[in-house]
Amino acid sequence: MRAQLDKLEFAHTTQFHTDPALALAEEVLRFAGPHFTGGAVFFTSGGSEAIESALKLARQYQVEIGQAKRHRILSRKQAYHGATFGAMAVSGNRQRRDMYLPMLRTDLQVNTPYCYRCEYGCSDCAAQYAKEVDAVFDSMDNEAAAMILEPISGATLGAVAPPDAYLSQVAQACSQRGALLIADEVMTGFGRTGTNFAVDHWSIAPDIMVVGKGIASGYAPLGAVIASARVVDAIANGTGTLIHGFTYNSHPVSMTAALAVLHEINNQNLVRQATSLGATLRNELKRLNDCESVGDIRGRGLLWAIEFVADRRTKRPFPREVTLAPKLAAASAKRGVMVYPMQGCADGTLGDHILVAPPAVITEAEIQHAVEELREAIRETEHNP
Ligand code: PMP
Repeated sequence: MRAQLDKLEFAHTTQFHTDPALALAEEVLRFAGPHFTGGAVFFTSGGSEAIESALKLARQYQVEIGQAKRHRILSRKQAYHGATFGAMAVSGNRQRRDMYLPMLRTDLQVNTPYCYRCEYGCSDCAAQYAKEVDAVFDSMDNEAAAMILEPISGATLGAVAPPDAYLSQVAQACSQRGALLIADEVMTGFGRTGTNFAVDHWSIAPDIMVVGKGIASGYAPLGAVIASARVVDAIANGTGTLIHGFTYNSHPVSMTAALAVLHEINNQNLVRQATSLGATLRNELKRLNDCESVGDIRGRGLLWAIEFVADRRTKRPFPREVTLAPKLAAASAKRGVMVYPMQGCADGTLGDHILVAPPAVITEAEIQHAVEELREAIRETEHNP
């Protein structure tokens, strides 16, 4: 990054390409797999900017292919896609958006599969949840431009993976209805869940992927939209220009940071490591099941969540005022273990969970130690909430 600063600190993308940006785009496309061959990458300064860009890209794609009527975005309840207006409009995280609702242009949302509190009693639920998508597309009367979803729910529901058949059915519904599928991989991308991207668990090929966080691993502010050839070609063969941009697109210093990060991910086999360490983390976390407030322990790779309940039999959440998750996170931090507390997983308001998402360079011994400290923090908090 310092060498890049000495060479060239900035060049505006309306007039210049830089070597690190071209190199990173190639690397990212390779990392995204064969489905993105011939695609393109649009680099932003973070996840929310990338979500905005993906929504606009989906709209421009539809206009370019002669579907100007398609402008609506189908999204899911209990999702988080970012802090900006477009991202909030397609999010479902009530705590983060309710106050702004009068200012947002919202559209229809479907339920997110959530096994622990399944709307369909876990009976044929993949098909049932996918049917909701079909029904909303029907009601949108060929006006849908895209559907956006987190393949594995991040913060809002807490590391919830869908039932196996769900995502392929949703992808099929999108392609049959002429809507693009946008996968928000801001939290799950770049190996977090043990595959390069969360969609890889089910071999789904979204038209657009949105990434952030792990792409530069905190060394520089960076997000990206990864577009498949189908989307890129529509614009290349149409007007030829994406009508959208930010000053700091493809910032050269962020590009060099991400190139170095990707190099380490590949060289140290960190994705494979997220799978093997993920198995250890799962086994250790599952032992917390004997704590009386632990309702559910779920996740993939190195993205895990624990949901806490006041009554395990009925799954009744704690009253919100108890602020169980924040208290637990504070008790855990006191013991040197940082977790991410959230409230609202059960119904948008009630429900406490913590995310446990260590870096892929953690050791087995550190995992064991962290989970033991977490056990003490849970015991302390549940006995005196
Ligand atoms: N999408 C998801 C799934 C996220 O988790 C986040 C950040 N928590 C965002 C989008 C927004 O990213 P940023 O905070 O970098 O704008």
